[in-house]
Amino acid sequence: MLAIPCLAFLRMPYRGRFAPSPTGILHAGSLLTALASWVRARQCHGQWLLRVEDVDPPREIAGSAQAILAQLQHLGLAADAPPLFQSARHDAYTCALDTLKRRHLVFPCWCSRNDLASTGSRHLDGHCAASPDRSRAPAWRLRVPDETIVFDDILQGRQCQNLRDAIGDFVLYRADGLWAYQLACVVDDAAQGITEVVRGVDLIDSTPRQICLQRALDLPTPAYLHLPVVTDAAGHKLSKSRGDALASRQPAESILRRTLQYLLPAGVSPPADADVHALLDFAVARVNLQMLAGRHTLPETRPDR
Ligand code: GLU
Repeated sequence: MLAIPCLAFLRMPYRGRFAPSPTGILHAGSLLTALASWVRARQCHGQWLLRVEDVDPPREIAGSAQAILAQLQHLGLAADAPPLFQSARHDAYTCALDTLKRRHLVFPCWCSRNDLASTGSRHLDGHCAASPDRSRAPAWRLRVPDETIVFDDILQGRQCQNLRDAIGDFVLYRADGLWAYQLACVVDDAAQGITEVVRGVDLIDSTPRQICLQRALDLPTPAYLHLPVVTDAAGHKLSKSRGDALASRQPAESILRRTLQYLLPAGVSPPADADVHALLDFAVARVNLQMLAGRHTLPETRPDR
């Protein structure tokens, strides 16, 4: 069933991706994103790629990148190319930042947290508010235009954000020498030829920043589909770092069945004896992501309920 047309398919072959950060193993919400993005790529007769977003070593949990790749393999979610590791992409990010420097679209910034707490990056207006301190490395910020970025999310509808009002000049390269998610994500979505980004709605607020960066770097803008996030009984988004992962030794079939519950219409369930491949085929045939349109949250379904 393909109720949402794959517009990208009309222009170029569909390419989707799943881009986990190695901050713990996958939980019900990140598994939903993995499965939905895989199903969407298959429904659009396209490719599905993986990217390990390991640009922030202080937040990383040792071993979780390999554990996540093993979880995906266990579930039969095979990628169409070897995974891209962001930790190996320093040269590509440096090249993008150099382009922005040449175009005078970025500026070095020595503002401390305290400086920003009093003024906020929204008020930097294209220049660092502190005096340059040549003894320490600056962060690099994008000069955001006073422009409202508009995009039509496939599930969440039209989104508008004026970056100068809502965000301000945002960081691309941190003073501690780490690349910011926004820059790494934009450079890699382009490098991997991604035509549609499927991810959690908790990241929808980043999308205008990413579109702004794509324009600054002359990169194409993919389509966006932001899925609801899975929440616990108290209504909080599940998080890898909070330890919400599923018991990793569960059979793949039961994890897939549980994840599919969020993606199938009420009353529809996969055949009782289906193995992993049959479950995935069933998902491609029956999942209709449109039924999640406009939803921001999905309460977690526990096996014991
Ligand atoms: N790395 C992010 C995460 O694990 C996802 C980023 C994205 O899909 O753009 O939540």
